[in-house]
Amino acid sequence: MRILPLIAAGVLAASSAFAQDLTKGAADIRDKALADPLAWNITESLTSEVGARMTGSPAMERARDWAVGKFRELGFENIKVEAFTTPTWSRGAESAEVVGPVPHKLAILGLGNSSPTPAGGLTAPIVVFKSYQAMLDQPPGSLSGKIAVVTQAMGRTQDGSSYGAVGAQRWAGAAEAAKRGAVGYLIRSLSTDDTRLPHTGGGLAGGIPAAALSPPDAELLERLADRGKPVTVKLQMASSTNPASPAWNISGEIRGKEKPDEVIVVGGHLDSWDPGTGAVDAAAGIGITTAAAKLVAQAGQPRRTIRVVMWGSEEQGGSSGAYAAAHKAEMGQMIMAGESDGGAGRIWTVSLPRAGADHAAMTAFRATLPKLNVAVSRAAPTNGGADIAGLMLGGVPFVDFGQDMSRYFDLHHSADDTLDKIDPKELAQNVAVWAAFLYTVANSDVDFRPKPAAEAK
Ligand code: ZN
Ligand code: ZN
Repeated sequence: MRILPLIAAGVLAASSAFAQDLTKGAADIRDKALADPLAWNITESLTSEVGARMTGSPAMERARDWAVGKFRELGFENIKVEAFTTPTWSRGAESAEVVGPVPHKLAILGLGNSSPTPAGGLTAPIVVFKSYQAMLDQPPGSLSGKIAVVTQAMGRTQDGSSYGAVGAQRWAGAAEAAKRGAVGYLIRSLSTDDTRLPHTGGGLAGGIPAAALSPPDAELLERLADRGKPVTVKLQMASSTNPASPAWNISGEIRGKEKPDEVIVVGGHLDSWDPGTGAVDAAAGIGITTAAAKLVAQAGQPRRTIRVVMWGSEEQGGSSGAYAAAHKAEMGQMIMAGESDGGAGRIWTVSLPRAGADHAAMTAFRATLPKLNVAVSRAAPTNGGADIAGLMLGGVPFVDFGQDMSRYFDLHHSADDTLDKIDPKELAQNVAVWAAFLYTVANSDVDFRPKPAAEAK
């Protein structure tokens, strides 16, 4: 009876020393990250030495070799190249012009899964819809022989939510236009910029040519259509598809010392669209997560394993499902998953699973955040990233670190997605958040899985 309080006090003293160590370690790694150039160097290396890297292209093979080389150079262990196949689309020559009533050249980029036009091009009258819903409201057959044009603009938001709000015009629009008889489909780019650069991206195949217009060209078509006379557009697109392109998920580990089978999975996607060099989408995510894991390793071998995954086909799909299928047996031992795919803007909010929130490790992590000007969201994470969706479905806990996306959609999927748009200080702030998080999770026994009701008592 008397010895119990002594034991309890001893446990308490040990756990509070542990908490103090974690808090100090997390603050140290945060401060180190803010002055560390590794994330920038990785991002610079990928965008300069590989450049644009569409899944299914020869550049993706170079990206795979780059990833293996980078993991080796940084001392990661257990490096794996996991092959899978996925359908891919590849761009050919493209052009568009208004042929009447007034000739104008149009700046376009074909959308993923678009069909090519006949070799001589496709010339047809356009029908302009100023909202996506207005096109959906048209009955089947009503767009027969026409090129449907949706010109709904995307607003600028800090959390990027406007992308989801208007995104369907890109990812579902061609199929919807085809259902209504359209022979071609054009959208105003999902862009918050006003340059003449169009923004590409994936969409459902509609069996018709589909492309994104630069915002000024979308506005030009609106103004021409508003005049009430028929407007005719000529499209020429020569894309091709491959039903089973080779692709790879590449990973490297910082092996845990005490519990190496308990794995924390983080990373970014290695593939990109083709107009730029895929800097903000998503070389930055590769740089941020790889550098964060490396900083944890430099602070001393962690208790648990941190695995960085460079997913090989986010933009055209396939890497999430392939990764989940290959790691099904292991999912129960995955402590958590996270992906950095919101560009290179600073992190302004973090969402953590509710289970584990009271653990000393998360207290230590949260203590690093005020200096980084990051708020802790009261909401549980809902979307951790496209490449970890398969793990999330398999029950692996996940985090969502919200980046400032105010400028992201100026650049996203356009020729302007290049290294110079990244602010090294904002990139380092991302690394600081991820490094502090990985450090506290990998050096503790925090468990993010909700406890069964019986155990929770
Ligand atoms: Zn992305
Ligand atoms: Zn993307």
